Amino acid sequence: TTSYDIIIVGGGPIGLACALEAKQANLSYLIIEKGCLVNSLYNYPQNMTFFSSSERLEIGGIPFVTTNPKPRRTEALEYYRRIQQKFELDTHLFEEVLGIEKNESAYFNVKTSKRSYLTKKVIIATGFYDIPMLLHIPGEELSKVRHYYDDPHYYSGQKVIVVGASNSSIDAALETFRKGAKVTLIIRSNEISPRVKYWVKPDIENRIAAGEIAVLYNSQLTAVTETTATVQTPTGTVELENDFVLALTGYRPNFDFLRKIGIEIPNQAPCIPSHNEQTMETNIKGLYLAGVVCGGLNTHLWFIENSRIHAKQIIEHIESTPN
Ligand code: FAD
Repeated sequence: TTSYDIIIVGGGPIGLACALEAKQANLSYLIIEKGCLVNSLYNYPQNMTFFSSSERLEIGGIPFVTTNPKPRRTEALEYYRRIQQKFELDTHLFEEVLGIEKNESAYFNVKTSKRSYLTKKVIIATGFYDIPMLLHIPGEELSKVRHYYDDPHYYSGQKVIVVGASNSSIDAALETFRKGAKVTLIIRSNEISPRVKYWVKPDIENRIAAGEIAVLYNSQLTAVTETTATVQTPTGTVELENDFVLALTGYRPNFDFLRKIGIEIPNQAPCIPSHNEQTMETNIKGLYLAGVVCGGLNTHLWFIENSRIHAKQIIEHIESTPN
C-alpha cells in the first residue's frame, strides 16, 4: 500500500488549494476525486456566471485572468485545470473515497472504490453539491423533476416550473424563458432572494412585472404528475399544466459519509461538522475539514473566496504537529 503525508478527499477548488500548500511545504500528498477534476463546477449549469470576480476565485496566488467582469463556468474550469497541470498536482480522478479508519499505528487507512492507501493526515474537502435538498412530495421521483439544471434549449416550448428564489432558480427561470419555455416560478417566501446576483435581480423583476415569467409567492409545490403540478398558494390550491419541474432548492453535504468517518455532527440545523476554526482539525486528530463542507446546512457561509484560506491554516497546523 502506498503511503502519504496527506490525502485530500475532493478535487474541487479548495482540495486543489490544499494540494498547492502541501506541495510547497514538501509534504507528500494525493488528491482523490470521485468525478472529473473540479467535478462540482463541471456539473454547474453550462452558461453559469460566478457571483465572485475572478481574483476572489484564485488559489495559490495564481492570477485568474479574464476580460469579463465575472468569470464564467468554462473559464473557471480552464483556470483550475491549468493549475492542476502546471503544478502537476497528484490527482486520482473517478475514484470515490468510501471509508477512512485510523489503524493501530495512527495511520489512516483510506479505502476507495479502486484500492486502499495509508496516510498520516486527511483533509476532507468534499463540498456540498452531490446531494440535493428534496421537496419530499408525491411525484418527485418522476424524471421530469430535476434537481440540477444544465442547459436551456432542452426546455424550449415546454411548461416549466422553477422552484426556489435564489441564484440557481433565477438563472434557470431567465435562461429557459429566453429559449421559449413558459416559466412559472414558485417561491416559498414573498420575495426574490436578496442574495440574487445584483446584475440579475432587475432582469427577473422586470420579466415578472411584464408578465413574461409567472410567479407564485408564499406558495409551495405539493404534488406533481406527468402532466400537472399542484401548488398551495395564499388564495388556495391551484393545478397547473406542467412538463418539467426544476426544483433548485439547494444542496447539502454528505452527512452520512462524514459521520461514518467519525466526525461529530449535531442533529439540529445547521449541522456544522465539529472542527476547530483555527486549525480546521475535526474531533479526530489528524483529520481536517476544508472548503464549503465546513458550513453544514449553512451553504451560504463559505465560498471559495473565504474558504481558500483553510488550505494554509491546515498545512501550517500539520507542519507544527508532524505526528
Ligand atoms: P467542491 O467544489 O464542491 O468540491 C468537492 C469535490 O469533492 C467535488 O469535486 C466532489 O466530486 C468531490 N467528492 C465528494 N465526495 C467525495 C468522495 N467520497 N470521494 C472523492 N471525492 C468526493 N462560490 C464562490 O466563491 N463564488 C461563486 O460565484 C459561487 N457560485 C456558485 C454557484 C453554484 C451553482 C454553486 C452550487 C456554488 C457556488 N459557489 C460559489 C459555492 C461553491 O460550492 C464553492 O465555491 C466551491 O465549489 C466549493 O469548493 P470546494 O472545493 O469546497 O467544494
